[in-house]
Amino acid sequence: MYRDLSKSYYLIPSTFRLPLAYERRQPISGLFAVSTFNLTFSIFVKSLLLMSYSMPITQRAELIDLARSLVAIQSYSGREEPAIRLAEKTMQALGFQDVLVDSLGNVSGRLGNGDQIVLLDAHLDTVAVEDAEQWTYPPFEGRIVDGVLHGRGSVDMKSAAAAAMYGAAIAHQKGWTEGKSVYVSCTVFEEDCDGENLRYLFADRSLHPDAVVICEPSNNQIALGHKGKAQVIITTKGVSAHGADPDRGVNAVYEMAEIIQRVAQTHAEIQPIDGLRGSMVLSKISSRAASLNAVPSSCQIYVDRRIIPGESEERVRSEMDALVFGKNATWTLDRMQRTAWTGKTFEYEPLHEAWKIDLDHPLTQACQQAFRTCLNREPEDYVFWDFSTNAVTPVRMEIPTIGFGPGDYRRAHMRDECIPIQELVDACGFYAQLIKAWS
Ligand SMILES: [Zn+2]
Repeated sequence: MYRDLSKSYYLIPSTFRLPLAYERRQPISGLFAVSTFNLTFSIFVKSLLLMSYSMPITQRAELIDLARSLVAIQSYSGREEPAIRLAEKTMQALGFQDVLVDSLGNVSGRLGNGDQIVLLDAHLDTVAVEDAEQWTYPPFEGRIVDGVLHGRGSVDMKSAAAAAMYGAAIAHQKGWTEGKSVYVSCTVFEEDCDGENLRYLFADRSLHPDAVVICEPSNNQIALGHKGKAQVIITTKGVSAHGADPDRGVNAVYEMAEIIQRVAQTHAEIQPIDGLRGSMVLSKISSRAASLNAVPSSCQIYVDRRIIPGESEERVRSEMDALVFGKNATWTLDRMQRTAWTGKTFEYEPLHEAWKIDLDHPLTQACQQAFRTCLNREPEDYVFWDFSTNAVTPVRMEIPTIGFGPGDYRRAHMRDECIPIQELVDACGFYAQLIKAWS
């Protein structure tokens, strides 16, 4: 059920005045104006002490307030409209042009009008909360305690969405979008159907970026790629017969037994490539019989295959062919049908190759430069995500893609999901610097 839109905006400061406010750097006495934005004095002082990326005070407060407001809006996959509307309103207030809600319900906007097209992407849907009463702080309030923002989506990935919108706005204000078109997208349904959102966004906007930044949580480290995946259903067919006379039938579970052994064997034989190893696991089994007194007429298993760079889609498809070879069995991708909040129905096909960008790629180098400028140190540690993201779509289109986002991804989807405010501020600074460095 959708939340009342008018209630969703209550945390947004009435003086939503960036980019004008950005030009008026506040003196330190402006610190007392912070109460206007519901930040406590102690949090603010701690934030100042921890600060590695410095930002004008009013703008910093607006950025934090946007992240809080987004967290305060429940936006499970398929029910993101209030969060998307807030992002739309924010982009308009920040001076984005061509702000568009597309057919799937993503919102995106542009700053700058140059030839080089960069897209910063953050999804606004979240996984559900099933245990709200066990959270230390309410999951949909956007509460800040001791400089840490708590709530579902604070890490995955509403803080990043706020940081991307403000980072692009800062870059534009500074004149760093000269010769570039910088798009920010706030996308939907990522948790169930990663990448489908960008397929619709690119088609509806006729957009083909030169570079994409996936703002998923990476502890503010540069993420060079992630594993791919294939989610497959294998079905065996049997012949039903009375349980008292089983020899008249064919048992679909017995037919599956050898396939199960092949799954385990295939997993054991997967070889590592460059220190990474793919995997295959049977994650579910079920069978159908006319009754508990009958021979099962069908059996299904669910196979989850994680793919590393160097393992192709063709290889995975032939592995699946080999699993069912010689058996009365078929395999199929676990295609899912979903309906977006706009009412549009779409299908998701869960087969994506892994991706990895080179350390010496110009996009990686632009990230390294932004990292140094913003965080005052060398980017020594790089992340390779375990999980899949919207990157699958630009990667399939052969668009250079990289990841960087605030928050610890190990806290994503967990009870008490939370993020230090300074990480969100640093990420905002990084995005601005990256726009400057990318050419
Ligand atoms: Zn995510």
